[in-house]
Amino acid sequence: MKKIVIAIDGHSSSGKSTMAKDLAREIGYTYIDTGAMYRAVTLYCLRNGLFVGDDKVKEDELEAAMEKMDISFRFNPETGRSDTYLDGTDVEKEIRTMAVADKVSLIAALGFVRRALVTKQREMGKEKGIVMDGRDIGTVVFPDAELKIFVTASPEVRAKRRQEELIAKGTPVSYEEVLANVKKRDYIDSTRAESPLRRADDALVLDNSTMSLAEQKEWLLERYREVAGA
Ligand code: C5P
Repeated sequence: MKKIVIAIDGHSSSGKSTMAKDLAREIGYTYIDTGAMYRAVTLYCLRNGLFVGDDKVKEDELEAAMEKMDISFRFNPETGRSDTYLDGTDVEKEIRTMAVADKVSLIAALGFVRRALVTKQREMGKEKGIVMDGRDIGTVVFPDAELKIFVTASPEVRAKRRQEELIAKGTPVSYEEVLANVKKRDYIDSTRAESPLRRADDALVLDNSTMSLAEQKEWLLERYREVAGA
């Protein structure tokens, strides 16, 4: 059976990571969460005081730091999932906080950050057999990916899901705050000059507003089987 690249793009909190992870586990592929990489760079900036005011970044300092910054994924046998590492330490929990979510789109709009991370992502996927999720995987990182999916759901449904996820993780947050963050990220992600979030012309659209996880999983598996001939 041929190994392929599966690109899953879409809006924030559309459930694409859950779908992508499930699919990768089911078909024995490696899952790569590119959002976690942008989040790790954002955490680096927060830790090192690289934000100035609300929406400025010390770009020269960050650009110099990008060359040495080490972002990787390591399997965590306790959770059965991969954790994100920044310069050798596990930052999986910290990169999921609202403090990071609030700033990540600013960082992801910087061309030099994107170029550095896209290079790493292409390296990670060069052997194929991967499911990569993000915003620009089907358009920029792997424009030749054999299977491209664009996942979306209404902002309200996505905010509700994200709020439930944060509460389950012990971070109480209001629905209004999450909805505002989801809308703000959609806006910045789809209007930025560098690789804006958009559906690749050859991507299949999945609006999962009213679909269960099991239905999404089945839909995705069918698409995979059609393309990979499994
Ligand atoms: O997927 P997740 O919500 O964790 O991504 C966090 C942020 O990283 C997104 O809001 C977006 O700004 C950015 N991102 C991106 N390109 C990717 C993945 C994520 O710009 N491939």
